[in-house]
Amino acid sequence: MNDIQVPEKAIQVSHLIGGEWVPGSGSQYNIESPYNGEVVGSGKACESALVNKAIEKASAASKTWGATPLKERTSVMFNLREILLRDIDKISQIVSLENGKTLGESKAGIMKGIEVLEYAISLQNLDQGGRMEVSRGVFCEYRREPLGVIANITPFNFPAMVPMWTLPIAITLGNAYVWKPSDKTPITSLYIGEAFKEAGLPAGVLTILNGGVETVNSIIDHKEVKAVGFVGSSKIAGLVYSRAAALGKRVLALGGAKNHIVLLPDADPEIAGRGIADSFTGCAGQRCMAASVLLAVGDVEKQIAAIKKRAESMTLGLDMGAIITKEQVEFLNAAISKAEAAGATILLDGRKFKAPAGKEGGFWLGPTILDNVDPKSEASKVELFGPIISIVRVASISEAMKIENENDYGNACSVFTTNGSLAEKVVSAASAGMVGVNIGVPVPREPFSFGGINHSKFGHGDITGTNSLNFWSDMKKITTKWESQKDSNWMS
Ligand code: NAD
Repeated sequence: MNDIQVPEKAIQVSHLIGGEWVPGSGSQYNIESPYNGEVVGSGKACESALVNKAIEKASAASKTWGATPLKERTSVMFNLREILLRDIDKISQIVSLENGKTLGESKAGIMKGIEVLEYAISLQNLDQGGRMEVSRGVFCEYRREPLGVIANITPFNFPAMVPMWTLPIAITLGNAYVWKPSDKTPITSLYIGEAFKEAGLPAGVLTILNGGVETVNSIIDHKEVKAVGFVGSSKIAGLVYSRAAALGKRVLALGGAKNHIVLLPDADPEIAGRGIADSFTGCAGQRCMAASVLLAVGDVEKQIAAIKKRAESMTLGLDMGAIITKEQVEFLNAAISKAEAAGATILLDGRKFKAPAGKEGGFWLGPTILDNVDPKSEASKVELFGPIISIVRVASISEAMKIENENDYGNACSVFTTNGSLAEKVVSAASAGMVGVNIGVPVPREPFSFGGINHSKFGHGDITGTNSLNFWSDMKKITTKWESQKDSNWMS
């Protein structure tokens, strides 16, 4: 059992404004730990008037921070790395407490965040802009400039990692950053905010505003907010995209997913068994990169047996964490019943797994494998966001890719095979932004960027890595001539 420490009394969630933690006076909300269902935190949402005040302070701070040389800004990020590594166990405890992940998963998420931080630190050496004599005595130059105040709205499923996709890069590039964490998991933001303060980030450069719809809309609408990043479900991503884009703002909104794995008969059963089982059960299936539909091509019984063996050996609370809310467990239970009614067979029933001793009040569901799923049914098409995999039986790679291509989403797709030429067929045909070969969760590592396509993303570019730099900054183009030229040629 993961040793999650429950605080003696509920943690008060406040807002980081101008370098100080202040309470809100909006609607009251509570945070229940998925591990035991107990209230572990509470707070009052940041109301519109307080949002406006906070963004005024952020705007003032952005002027000085944006004018600070990149190398000086980076020194804060070096300090932050030391602090996060020092406090990783403490922050992992909080992430697990409010999100339900295992401690190992929480720690891995923070390590991925630190990887993004290291990329941001490297920008001082890598991102040199560029200057060239384009004609006699005429020079062109690229100069990267911050946008001013930018905002990010993040989901519950990675309370530390998803914010850390953007915090280090956008702040290192010289912006003042307004963060609206998920209202289901806001406690982690108190610890990350403290880490930035201790690292020496000037007051107002990071603003944290907790709350729900009213807080989000007030942030988007504020005229000083120049760009909006969002990660969450496709429904809300669409709303946020439309609202911000209608105001003429730069917006990148990452949405939900329904990820496919193409399993071929020549796949190594051990590699496929581990890779696929870990993909759909990791973080209790609450990952936008989790395997959701297994396109089983031909005779793959050995591999499916290996997936089942690994999944059924899992112990809740030890190998797998909890589901975010009671309502989501009810939704998932109903989805399993609906799939069965639609003709699927249940190969492994997560509803029969035992909650960990003493944590029966928590929100639990074990790994679930649905077989012979109709590709037109809900279990094959709708994002469930839980530890459920739907096996759709197909006769060929072409049939598999037709199903994959017809799905609205486009986050991830993987193939398991020992044949490079067949793997390439799937890689080329996949309608997804991130594709894996013998990898269950094909998350690109820095400096490669993260981002899907189709209904999994509204806007352009990616949210991390090299492809994110132009989203979080403007590139000024400067053309200079100091001397008059006797032999006049183009632009000289
Ligand atoms: P969500 O869309 O419910 O919430 C995301 C954020 O939006 C939260 O901060 C929430 O407070 C806010 N919000 C909720 N309703 C809103 C509204 N009506 N108007 C404005 N803001 C609103 O998502 P979630 O349940 O927190 O997270 C799970 C979803 O996120 C899944 O669909 C998952 O696939 C997706 N996700 C996607 C990625 C990706 O990279 N594509 C990464 C992680 C999670």
